[in-house]
Amino acid sequence: MEILKVENLTKVYGKGENEVRALNGVSFSVEKGDFVAIIGPSGSGKSPLLHTLGGVDRPTGGKVLVNGQDVYSRSDEQIAVFRRREVGLIYQFYNLIPNLTVRENIEVGAYLSRNPLDMEDLLQTLGLWEHQDKIPSQLSGGQQQRTSIGRAIIKNPDILLCDEPTGALDYQSSKEILRLIEKVNQKYRNTVMIVTHNDSIKDMADKVLMLRDGEI
Ligand code: ADP
Repeated sequence: MEILKVENLTKVYGKGENEVRALNGVSFSVEKGDFVAIIGPSGSGKSPLLHTLGGVDRPTGGKVLVNGQDVYSRSDEQIAVFRRREVGLIYQFYNLIPNLTVRENIEVGAYLSRNPLDMEDLLQTLGLWEHQDKIPSQLSGGQQQRTSIGRAIIKNPDILLCDEPTGALDYQSSKEILRLIEKVNQKYRNTVMIVTHNDSIKDMADKVLMLRDGEI
């Protein structure tokens, strides 16, 4: 079943001399449950692509269809609801709330959902069970990223979008985080789209999209 369809997507920032064409007619589709890697050099439009897919940033032209529904034909308010309920976002930096515990940080995601995943099961899956009462400053970078994965995935989103999720981690932790995202994808069957420079992703992905100068 097709969950995502992107048609001739363009994104232009700025005007006149300052115009930057970040996406230049991107089209592709993704099957439900797929693990998709988006690989491209810095400046190729990877972040603008993830943001337009996730209802964060309106495209200049083209369409994003999620479950057959045109995301940007909706009002800004409806787009916000879509983003909150159906999209999980993971960034290079974890953006955890410093004075909340691991468990409480993950709960923040659960509040946004109508059908959150089971907290205890998720803490086990993420290897965070024994760390659940710690605050972020008591955790390693890898553990903090696992917590931010928990916060994104507990919503049980249709699509999990990951923007350089291993960008701030050492080699070993990066491999662990990519394996964990793969495990989450296999266990919960959410569709995963991940932007990364990390080459080991190629062996895990069902589909690899190469992005260059805003084109696939
Ligand atoms: P990547 O994620 O592949 O490194 P970039 O984030 O660099 O891609 O985006 C591609 C191009 O779009 C760059 O030239 C960048 O300057 C431009 N761009 C991205 N986001 C914005 C924004 N919010 N405002 C203006 N220009 C942007």
